Amino acid sequence: MKIYIETLGCQMNRLDSELIVGLLQSAGHEILAARRGAEAVLYNTCSVRQHAEDKVYSRLGVDAKRKADRSLIVGVLGCMAQREGKSLARRYPAVDFLCGPGRIHELPALLEAARAGRFVVALDPDRKTSIDLQAVEALEAVDLSRDPACCPSESQAFVRVMRGCDRFCTYCIVPYVRGAEISRSPEAVEREVKKMLVSGRSEITLLGQTVNRYRHKNGETTTRFSDLLARLSSLAGMRRLRFVTSHPVDFGRDLLEAMRDLPNVCPYIHAPAQSGSDAMLKRMNRGYTRAQYDELISAARQIVPDVVFAGDFIVGFPGETDADHSASVDLIRRVGYKNAFIFKYSPRPGTTAAKRYEDDVPEAVKRRRNLELLAAQKTQGLAHHRQYIGRTLEVLITGKSAKEKKKDARQEPSSQTTSDHVQLQGRSRGDHVVLFEGPESLIDTYAEVRITDASDLSLFGRII
Ligand code: SF4
Repeated sequence: MKIYIETLGCQMNRLDSELIVGLLQSAGHEILAARRGAEAVLYNTCSVRQHAEDKVYSRLGVDAKRKADRSLIVGVLGCMAQREGKSLARRYPAVDFLCGPGRIHELPALLEAARAGRFVVALDPDRKTSIDLQAVEALEAVDLSRDPACCPSESQAFVRVMRGCDRFCTYCIVPYVRGAEISRSPEAVEREVKKMLVSGRSEITLLGQTVNRYRHKNGETTTRFSDLLARLSSLAGMRRLRFVTSHPVDFGRDLLEAMRDLPNVCPYIHAPAQSGSDAMLKRMNRGYTRAQYDELISAARQIVPDVVFAGDFIVGFPGETDADHSASVDLIRRVGYKNAFIFKYSPRPGTTAAKRYEDDVPEAVKRRRNLELLAAQKTQGLAHHRQYIGRTLEVLITGKSAKEKKKDARQEPSSQTTSDHVQLQGRSRGDHVVLFEGPESLIDTYAEVRITDASDLSLFGRII
């Protein structure tokens, strides 16, 4: 069957889609790069934000019209399928099957059933009932059978170390749709990482909803996240080791010291604060106070040389006052994040916040606070990036810059400084976006780049 997969949402979803491609190809299906000519369209969708789900609702409306003219199988996968369940299919009759994130191993069978005209559903049991160990084992087998050829990058790879989340932040749907926290065995993670290294990828990013909470017990032996980093960092071919997303509570001293002592672990911490106000942090059930977050930042600064921070913030959470908002602005000013993802709160059905709290901050106030946080971050981002002017950074060149890609799409000649040079983009060890001119042949290699200029989001430089 010719299949088109559209992925909306977080990095975890993108990794799932990569595994799905391998799984379906080995079942004899062809994966298309665009939806034209597809016999089946699969939407792998995140539920964390309304925006991704809204896109799928609109696609499903159009698919219903397409199905009137020709045969087309439509499947909804991932957290959205798990959250909405059969009610989604009742409202959108274009849907032929639903598949939760813990059931992707069943996809080949689901497609066959849908081709035979049966409506099928594969969702995880409610997390209150039990963990389906068979499904966990089947998912582990999908991870381990991963084909590096399906990896979208020649130099970078993501490897999952945990599934699920047990933190229950009140605004978040993840613990309900991705299930209970399970850490993969260090042996399984190492096997997968080795496979990606042998295939030529040299920057590995370990993934988990709360990745630094990783803890695997085998009899008397416990592997902490810092132990896992030490184990993986010594593997042949490992040049850079990263991890996302961390929870501020789970940054023990052992982890910060591992970041200091293991030379290929990148000095980059994505530490979502969500708010600078204790009252909001409590309502969000984040499990830390502002003072504890400040302590983490100062401990990381003391222990990890050159550490770089990224943050996440929610504005307009129920009950947020101007004073709470000012505490978030203050936190942004004090930390000096490289970048921060700032979102206006919107209640997600099924979460504690949606059930317990009235969405009482008016939209105009949310908008104003959002702009204020963005402006504060822009100032701090510029100051942060300017510190690097005059320094030389190691950059992994990941591709052409967004500007060059747009030109390619419009089929315009590139702004070449010399005949074969285009604007390239890469990442420093601190995860800075670095832009510079160079030949395309350098993509997926490392270069030393002298930084000559900076904006609030990027560094600009010259290859040495
Ligand atoms: S830590 Fe909180 S925000 Fe992150 S996935 Fe778990 S519940 Fe969601």
